[in-house]
Amino acid sequence: MICPYCKKNNIDILQTRYESLIYRSSFFKNNKLVKIQPLFCRDCCLGFNETNLNEAIKEELFKEFTSVEANAGIGSSNYTSFINFILKNTKQDFNIVDIGCYDGFVLENLYKNGYRDLSGYDPNINIKNKEIKAYKELFTKDTCLTKKVDAFLLGNILEVIPSIDDFMQVLHKNLNQNGKVLIEVPSISSINLVQAWRFSPIFFEKLALNNLFKIVDVDNAFCKDKFYNYRLALEKIESNVYYEEYFNKEEVDAIYQNTLLHINSEDFDVNFINTLITLIQSNNENKRDTIIWGGGIFTFRILEAIMHKDMSLLKDSNIVILDSDKSKDGAYFLAPHNVFLKTRYAYDFLKECHTIANIILGVSSDNFIKEIKASIKDLNNNFNVEVFEILTKYGVEEI
Ligand SMILES: [Zn+2]
Repeated sequence: MICPYCKKNNIDILQTRYESLIYRSSFFKNNKLVKIQPLFCRDCCLGFNETNLNEAIKEELFKEFTSVEANAGIGSSNYTSFINFILKNTKQDFNIVDIGCYDGFVLENLYKNGYRDLSGYDPNINIKNKEIKAYKELFTKDTCLTKKVDAFLLGNILEVIPSIDDFMQVLHKNLNQNGKVLIEVPSISSINLVQAWRFSPIFFEKLALNNLFKIVDVDNAFCKDKFYNYRLALEKIESNVYYEEYFNKEEVDAIYQNTLLHINSEDFDVNFINTLITLIQSNNENKRDTIIWGGGIFTFRILEAIMHKDMSLLKDSNIVILDSDKSKDGAYFLAPHNVFLKTRYAYDFLKECHTIANIILGVSSDNFIKEIKASIKDLNNNFNVEVFEILTKYGVEEI
């Protein structure tokens, strides 16, 4: 087995995962579980999967793939760090192109900060502000730009690009002198189906060097206990003859050791999973629903850990998945081992409830946790509710 990036064979095999092909699908027949075999290259410090997704699966996946809409107030605080990073590394008169901009939340925020030369590319684009140029298409090597760009934004998008060197070269070609690429990527240990890559901070030194960039700013890449999304600014250079490394040797070693330790550790504390099992058993005995707020990968991982310890528990329980997005009401969540769970719009469901005793938070971001807790407090006229927060190594930092 060789690394698809550096072609060396110094590969670590990590724990096999499963994932639902389509989250919150209304159609049973379209959904299925897909096996993921995560690998890690010790030479270039890059994570990837054993097999790439086949074209049929990719088509199915991206047809239904949408993010939560930050403009609708769901998870909007998760964008704050990236927006601040962009403001720090650009100027108001920059020509900025956001690749994978979806509902344009980041671009709208830059507009509010006085930026005017803004455009976005996304096959599912949905930008309300007519002053921002919106292109409903994938950004590819054939995309024609009318002028050179001062900064490209890649907010949680680089990890799904199949050929990253080719992609970086297209950006390089379209950038002005000293133009920048501003990147946010998930933590190295965030493993999900759409990702082709899991980036360690050190890998970006190689990516920059190989594609005539240099790292000029890094934000939040070095956390000891919990691994977060992190950000980098790369600046275009004309030759790598005098390439200056951003990270020093000691830092690189520390990150490398920490990364290995982290990606090989368990997702959840065993005591915590036991507590959840006891909670679900008690709900079953009292004929209560078990409520999990969050219809994404994190809930899937929690259920996977529970089923690993007690296979039959979920099949014998009445589990309701709550979602903050109204359009997901009535859809089905595919849990591990092909268990389908009904999804309800959280606010409607809780308004109708009078007897809820506990809600499990199925989200990893500290910002999501804060939003959900505030919503529960607002709705909490009819019942006493105990909130179970999942302690984990994943996360998005609190703002
Ligand atoms: Zn490699």
